[in-house]
Amino acid sequence: MHIDGDTRLAGIIGNPLHHTMSPALHNAAFDYLGLNWCYIPFPVERSSVKEAVEGMKALGLVGLNVTMPFKTEVIPLLDEVAVFAETVGAVNTILLDKGKLIGYNTDGRGFYTALAKDLGYEVKGRKVLVMGAGGAARSVTVSLALAGCASITILNRSLEKSERLVGIISKSAPGVRVACLRPDEDYDMVVAESDIIINATPITNFNGSVLRVPVSMLNRNQLVCDLNYTVYQPPFLQEASARGARVIDGKGMLLYQAAAAFEIWTGLEAPVEVMRMALLRALEEARI
Ligand code: NAP
Repeated sequence: MHIDGDTRLAGIIGNPLHHTMSPALHNAAFDYLGLNWCYIPFPVERSSVKEAVEGMKALGLVGLNVTMPFKTEVIPLLDEVAVFAETVGAVNTILLDKGKLIGYNTDGRGFYTALAKDLGYEVKGRKVLVMGAGGAARSVTVSLALAGCASITILNRSLEKSERLVGIISKSAPGVRVACLRPDEDYDMVVAESDIIINATPITNFNGSVLRVPVSMLNRNQLVCDLNYTVYQPPFLQEASARGARVIDGKGMLLYQAAAAFEIWTGLEAPVEVMRMALLRALEEARI
């Protein structure tokens, strides 16, 4: 990698960042296209988030990705926020454009694109069940609602967050049926009758979890998704796969959200397959 006085800088803020795959994806793309750009991880303490974001202007950073736990708290620090990011209340990509910090959220688009491009899966008219109601769940469900799914049911540990997400989705896509479930109610049939089931929590195995997910209800008519990613298939997806469901983990979402961020920063089409290879190599090397 060549770095000189003209090198343009992008990066990621979050904490912890030990396992971030984003530098591998973006630096491979810059390299492939011969761009004099470099992407660096910046682990930031919560008390320094404001200085870090404002520092983009002082240092002339072109862009930053934002990951856990700062996706919501960066919003008031920005000059403008794209409508989708504002709706879901989370920003994962910041662009410094003509002195202005503009926030975007590419997570939901990343998930939708992975389904469409990697699986050729059409979400229109589908019944969706999502576990989780955090930033990733908000971004994914609003994307699916805007893409015309028929219904979304939310199952989350805290009911208050589920109810808030019901409100966000209903407001963004009034034609979509939206409901939430309490973890202690009987929802076996909801699981059995859903077309798309998405795990948007950090849990990769629901045995013994507060969220009772009856894996015996999973079946061959379903697409089961886990937003977590490793080189190995997460246990929840192994259970689904064993029951004949189609499965997809979070690698595609990670790839396409990064490709979308790359395009926002550079204005160029992202070399997606180069980035995919870099991601697989980095996961293998990190043994994640
Ligand atoms: P978040 O905003 O912190 O939300 C976490 C969600 O998981 C909340 O709904 C939380 O429930 C639930 N949860 C956490 N621990 C739990 C437990 N022990 N039992 C039951 N529920 C639990 O996080 P996020 O940004 O949405 O991320 C969620 C997952 O998606 C993470 O594993 C993250 O790595 C992954 N992700 C992947 C991608 C990708 O590109 N593939 C992108 C973004 C996120 P409460 O509301 O009750 O706290």
